[in-house]
Amino acid sequence: GSANIGVVGLAVMGSNLARNLASREGNTVAVFNRSPERTRTLTSEHPEAGFAASEGYDEFVASLATPRTAVIMVQAGAGTDAVISELVKRFEPGDIIVDGGNANFHDTIRREAEIAPTGIHFVGMGVSGGEEGALHGPSLMPGGTVQSYETLGPILQTIAAVAPDGEPCVTHVGTDGAGHFVKMVHNGIEYADMQLIAEAYDLIRTGTGKTPAEIADVFAEWNTGELESYLIEITAEVLRQVDAETGKPLVDVILDSAGAKGTGAWTVQNALELGVPESGIAEAVFARSLSSKRAQRDAAADLPGPSTEWTVDDPEAFIEDVRQALYASKIIAYSQGFDEIVSGAEQFGWDIHKGDIAKIWRAGCIIRARFLNRIAEAYADDPSLVALVVAPYFRDAVTSAQESWRRVVATAAQAGIPTPAFSSSLAYYDALRAKRLPAALIQAQRDFFGAHTYQRIDKPGVFHTLWSGDRSEIETTPSSH
Ligand code: NDP
Repeated sequence: GSANIGVVGLAVMGSNLARNLASREGNTVAVFNRSPERTRTLTSEHPEAGFAASEGYDEFVASLATPRTAVIMVQAGAGTDAVISELVKRFEPGDIIVDGGNANFHDTIRREAEIAPTGIHFVGMGVSGGEEGALHGPSLMPGGTVQSYETLGPILQTIAAVAPDGEPCVTHVGTDGAGHFVKMVHNGIEYADMQLIAEAYDLIRTGTGKTPAEIADVFAEWNTGELESYLIEITAEVLRQVDAETGKPLVDVILDSAGAKGTGAWTVQNALELGVPESGIAEAVFARSLSSKRAQRDAAADLPGPSTEWTVDDPEAFIEDVRQALYASKIIAYSQGFDEIVSGAEQFGWDIHKGDIAKIWRAGCIIRARFLNRIAEAYADDPSLVALVVAPYFRDAVTSAQESWRRVVATAAQAGIPTPAFSSSLAYYDALRAKRLPAALIQAQRDFFGAHTYQRIDKPGVFHTLWSGDRSEIETTPSSH
C-alpha cells in the first residue's frame, strides 16, 4: 500500500480529520467506513483529497504503507472495540492503531494492555475542537508509547491547531490512557467555563435589565481583556442571535434544560475516586442535571424567594464585579482541573508536563483562551507548583478580584439568583487559604462514633478519647477503618 495514514469511521469527525490529513503535503490518506455509502459520499465530494478508499478491512489494511498507522474515529465504546479487533487481526508488530474517539480513559488503559502483547502500538488520543477543529486544526492529546509518537508526532504536528506563537497544539501527553484522561479533564473544565459564563449572564440580565444583545456587547468587551477566549467570544455571538420565527432573542426561546454526553460526569467521578476537591466542575455538571429536572422544577416553582426587591445601583460597577468574579472562579476551575491531572498522573504512573498541556489547549480546542499562556508560564517557572491559584500571577489576580467576587456571591444569595459555580469556587478559595478548618471537629466526631482516632497539633502519635468510658485520652495505633 501507499497511504502513510488511514482513517476508519467517516462520520463528521472522521471525514473532517481525513480531509485535514489529506490537505497536508506528503500525506496519502486511506479511508474506510463500515457502511460504504459514507466512504462514497466523502470521496465523491472531495476528489481533491486523493483518498485511497476501501470498502472492506482487508483492502483498507492493504492500502496502508508499512509500518501502518490508522486512526479510528467511530462511536466510542462497542464500535471502537469492534474496529480494533478487525485491525488487530490484520496489523503486524510495529503498526500503530490510534483511537481518536471520546473513549473513557479506563477503556484506553484496558485496550492498550490487551494489544501490547501483539507488538502493535495502541494510542488513545483526545481530539478537541469539534467538527471545525477536526477539519482546520484540532487540539490533539495522544497517549500511548513513546515509540509510537516518533512516527505519529510529525504527522499530528502538521494537522493540529497552531497556537499564537506558532507551536502546534499537540504533545505526547503520557503513556496508555494519559491522552484520553487529559481530554476528559479538558471537557470538565469546559463544563465549568460554560457554567461560569452562564451565571455571569444571568446576574447581569437580572441585575441590570440589559437585553441579551446589550449583554453580547459586554461579553465582546470582556473578550478584549484577560478573559479573552473562544467561549466568551461565542457567547457574545449567541446572545446577539435573533430567532427568525418569533423575532425574540434566540436564547429566550431555547428550552432551559442543558444536555450532556458524559465526559463532565467522568471528570467528576474520577476526581471523587482520586480524592481531588473539584467543586467547580462538579457544580457545573450538577447545574446541567438540575436544569433537566423539569418535574421537580415545576413543583418547586412557587417556593418563596427573597422578600425584598433586588436593585443594582451602579450597573457599570456591578458588571465589573461580575467580570472579576468570573475571572477568579475560572482560575479556581483550572486550578482544580490541573489538580486532577496531577493526581491522575500519580495514580496511573504518567509523566505529564502540565505546562505542555496548557500550551496545547491554546488553540483548536473549546477552552482555548489567552490565559492558558499564564498557566504554561506558571508551570515553567515552578514545575512542582502545588496549586495553580498560588502561582504569583494567579495570586495577584485573585487578590485584586476577591472583594468583587465576595460582593457578587453575597448579592446573588440575597437576590435569590443561583450561582453554584461562583459560590463553590469562592468557598473552595476560602477553605484552601483557611489557617484552620473545622475538619478538627469532624475528626473528633469520627473518633466518638467509630473510634477512628485523631492526631494532635502539639505532639506526634495517634490518639483516641474513651468517649463511652471516663473520657480520658489514650495513645493508640492507627485505626484500620
Ligand atoms: P459518531 O460518534 O456519530 O459515530 C458514527 C461513526 O461510528 C460512523 O462512522 C459509524 O459507522 C461508526 N461505527 C459505529 N459503530 C461501529 C461499528 N461497530 N463498527 C464500525 N464502525 C462503527 O461519529 P462522530 O464523527 O460524531 O464522532 C466520532 C468519534 O469522535 C466519537 O467517538 C466521538 O465521541 C468523538 N468526538 C466527537 C466530537 C464531535 O464534536 N462530534 C469531538 C471530539 C471527539 P456507520 O457509518 O457504518 O454507521
